Amino acid sequence: MTTNAGPFAGTSRLTARRREVELDALAAAPSVDLLVIGGGVTGAGVALDAAARGLRVALVEARDLAFGTSRWSSKLVHGGLRYLASGRIGVARESAVERGVLMTRTAPHLVRSLPQLVPLLPGLLRPGQASLVRAGFLAGDALRLSAGTPGALLPRMRRIDAARARQLVPAVRAEGLAGALVAHDGQLVDDARLVVALARTAAQYGATVLTRVRAEEVTGTSARLVDGLTGQSLVLTAGAVVNATGVWAGEVDPSIRLRPSRGTHLLVDAAALGHPVAALTVPVPGSTSRFVFALPQQLGRVAIGLTDEDAPGPIPDEPRPTEAELDFLLDTVNAALTTALTRADVRGAYAGLRPLIDTGGGSTADISRQHAVLESPSGVITVVGGKLTTYRRMAEDAVDTAVRLRGLPARACWTARLPLVGAPGHRDSRPAPAGGVPASLVARHGGAAREVLAAGGAEPIAEGIDVTRAEIVYAVTHEGALDTSDVLHRRTRIGLVAQDADRARAGVEEIVAQCRTR
Ligand SMILES: Cc1cc2nc3c(=O)[nH]c(=O)nc-3n(C[C@H](O)[C@H](O)[C@H](O)COP(=O)(O)OP(=O)(O)OC[C@H]3O[C@@H](n4cnc5c(N)ncnc54)[C@H](O)[C@@H]3O)c2cc1C
Repeated sequence: MTTNAGPFAGTSRLTARRREVELDALAAAPSVDLLVIGGGVTGAGVALDAAARGLRVALVEARDLAFGTSRWSSKLVHGGLRYLASGRIGVARESAVERGVLMTRTAPHLVRSLPQLVPLLPGLLRPGQASLVRAGFLAGDALRLSAGTPGALLPRMRRIDAARARQLVPAVRAEGLAGALVAHDGQLVDDARLVVALARTAAQYGATVLTRVRAEEVTGTSARLVDGLTGQSLVLTAGAVVNATGVWAGEVDPSIRLRPSRGTHLLVDAAALGHPVAALTVPVPGSTSRFVFALPQQLGRVAIGLTDEDAPGPIPDEPRPTEAELDFLLDTVNAALTTALTRADVRGAYAGLRPLIDTGGGSTADISRQHAVLESPSGVITVVGGKLTTYRRMAEDAVDTAVRLRGLPARACWTARLPLVGAPGHRDSRPAPAGGVPASLVARHGGAAREVLAAGGAEPIAEGIDVTRAEIVYAVTHEGALDTSDVLHRRTRIGLVAQDADRARAGVEEIVAQCRTR
């Protein structure tokens, strides 16, 4: 199973100790088949693909797993409907196929089926728009069928009456409501958890996964790796180097030209919308293809998003939403609600940058979400664009390219059949014990829930926050969290609401200090 014969052979545990030992091992023998730069969904996917093919792989991430765009998504595992609307049938089908892979084989524990409801309200839909939405949903069903995803998993579109619509989304405007159109798509419990599961599975197959390590002076066959904790560096040589740094790709390889686009979400309490169990989909006035979504989330919140704004200039570590974006989101969603949300309802807000390939003029909303694998004159192989849903296919294409260009000794790709840590069928997965395990813990950890619980107690880390102390322990002892920030902002998503982070911080700090040496 593994190319790593060291003390961590065959284990998916990522710890500070493992990081130290594996960095020392790289310093002693600084050569691998494939160096992957970037620990977002794309880089973690590439590392898993390559390690599972038997290659010697090192993945370096300058900050933390899922530090970049991969934690700021809408967490939808798309069937590609949006791309169908603009005639990009290939991209749409690829999305539908990859959605099926995630939901049936690789990560069904992290992806659930989410009903998406378009209310039939006077003034909300333009004349003829309901027919367009219906036609789109029917096309989505056809895509799902062609991808072989069962209807039991993603039920076909249907029209429901007003009473049922208000059961699914209690806050939807009742006056004039003539029912709703409902379609289903996939939703991740948490995008960062997918990245962590990928990185851990890659480590289990022998990849060396190093956070707080930045790649500098990158060429097609080498890079200087700088340890962010000690300042020490080493030069690693590699059969091939894959640049999977998303919006930072042009910093690693100046031949890459991107046009980042900012997408913003805000968070409100689920109670403010009557605890919806479906996503509310509201058309953006003046557009036939853009919608604002109110998406139920874990930890008792609803995320309302999203925007698509040109974001030129230097790439910030953490992009911030603008006031105008928040107003736009509230105004758009309020058109479909009985009681308007106000700024006082906003508990948090976040923004991410889409790594779109620069194709010249036009709006960023019109730029293709198709991914690209590019070899630069320096020999660096960059994989960029795309989306979370299609990370596996992006990884396969990137590794295929590296293997072809550099003659690497790799087997064929088989990640479409490879369950991630926590998925049913993964060798360490166990059914969750009956009773006593919070459902939210099972939703986040799947078949690893029993192991997580054994790491610590089931009591919450702070009153009213639906994250157990056990998950904080596990983040440090198994998931590579190196400090409190990793735990609050990426292993859990407590940090999305600053007040929650403040309440949980002392408890998390205490556990991190206790566990760091384990
Ligand atoms: C607002 C928004 C909503 C979205 N919603 C969805 C959705 O619902 N569904 C979907 O499928 N897709 C969605 N996407 C798209 C998806 O989130 C991205 O395509 C994907 O996360 C990009 O991942 P990545 O790994 O390529 O980049 P990133 O996640 O940004 O990872 C790049 C990593 O590289 C690291 N790095 C940078 N430079 C270096 C260096 N020199 N050395 C080492 N490491 C380095 C960074 O720290 C970072 O962690 C959305 C995107 C946005 C912006």
